[in-house]
Amino acid sequence: MSSATRQDASPVLVLNAGSSSLKFQLLVPETAQVLATGLVENIGEQGSSVADHGAALAVMTSELTSAGVDLDRDPLRAVGHRVVHGGSYFSDPVLIDDAVLGHVRDLIPLAPLHNPGAVTGIVAARARFAVPQVAVFDTAFFADLPLPAATYAVPRELAAKHRIRRYGFHGTSHQFVSAAAAELVGRPLADLDQIVLHLGNGCSASAVRGGRAIDTSMGLTPLEGLVMGTRSGDVDPGLHAFLHREEGLTSEQVDALLNQRSGLLGLAGANDFRTLERLMGEGDEHATLAFEVVVHRIKHYVGAYLAQLGHLDVLSFTAGVGQHSATLRAAVVAGLGGLGLRLDAERNGAPSSAARIISTDDSPVTIAVVPTNEELAIARQTAALVR
Ligand code: AMP
Repeated sequence: MSSATRQDASPVLVLNAGSSSLKFQLLVPETAQVLATGLVENIGEQGSSVADHGAALAVMTSELTSAGVDLDRDPLRAVGHRVVHGGSYFSDPVLIDDAVLGHVRDLIPLAPLHNPGAVTGIVAARARFAVPQVAVFDTAFFADLPLPAATYAVPRELAAKHRIRRYGFHGTSHQFVSAAAAELVGRPLADLDQIVLHLGNGCSASAVRGGRAIDTSMGLTPLEGLVMGTRSGDVDPGLHAFLHREEGLTSEQVDALLNQRSGLLGLAGANDFRTLERLMGEGDEHATLAFEVVVHRIKHYVGAYLAQLGHLDVLSFTAGVGQHSATLRAAVVAGLGGLGLRLDAERNGAPSSAARIISTDDSPVTIAVVPTNEELAIARQTAALVR
């Protein structure tokens, strides 16, 4: 084997660092072969044996060794970091240097729950691995949203001062799925008008024209848009002041209420979609209404994006719920035959983990299930940048 071949086959380490957790996956981007995957939790928490992200990387290294991976013998090609917020700085993945790290830090006010973890993860990984490191941003795919889609109608001086705009999240997934959907239907990405529904614990929708996002449902924060496991999605902005006045809640309390105690959890007492479906099967009226609210909101966005695009080639479902709940998919497209979306009930119900078409052969719009793979997308973008 030549050294060049060996270099090409060497793995990329993908890191997703939260404030107290570190998810990792070691994989070969060209073949999608996963060599190891894992999660270190309770980092820096009281009584935890893992003091910080540096210690978490040591735990990871020993887990890799147990999995038969020796990083000293088979060195990494690069490290790819998932970073939630790239603000207006980054519309593409970038090689990490001190300036990039400074920008990620600078964006902490916009992503107080996410960017601090990314910063500590990057600092620890740069100290541990002497290989190129790349930041892949969850917002990047939406950095070039058309201004009318990105702009909130608030005083423009205030928006400029605090960088208030719609950023969008889950971008790595929306980009990966829209490209994979084009492959699935065998047509160039550049020719397609698409809607992607990322329905997992977090949920978002996007409208994609020719491979570029023209609208998305998450905004300044990942709270806007669809109903999620514990997040409300869209509410009347007047609700904040109302809860403050009537319930005496502070802004932090309202924020926590809408992010952590709302959505499916708030409506039905369960944030896991499988539990929701089980409760519905038992005739639970709260679970049934929660399901109907979820569907109503998704249809609202599908209709909006049909209007923004003016035409639609592919509607894709992805992430935990989108990939696995045939019931939800059927409910979302029910009654949309007149708009060109005709579901094939048998295809929709057939269990499969592959990308697949679930519309009828004569459906003007192709309806698809496309498994997302953010780690692979990050590894590929990382490899492309260091090549
Ligand atoms: P994700 O955030 O993409 O990991 O998705 C998590 C969500 O997917 C949770 O609400 C799960 O209950 C849901 N999910 C996973 N598997 C299934 C399944 N077989 N049927 C319905 N929902 C599922």
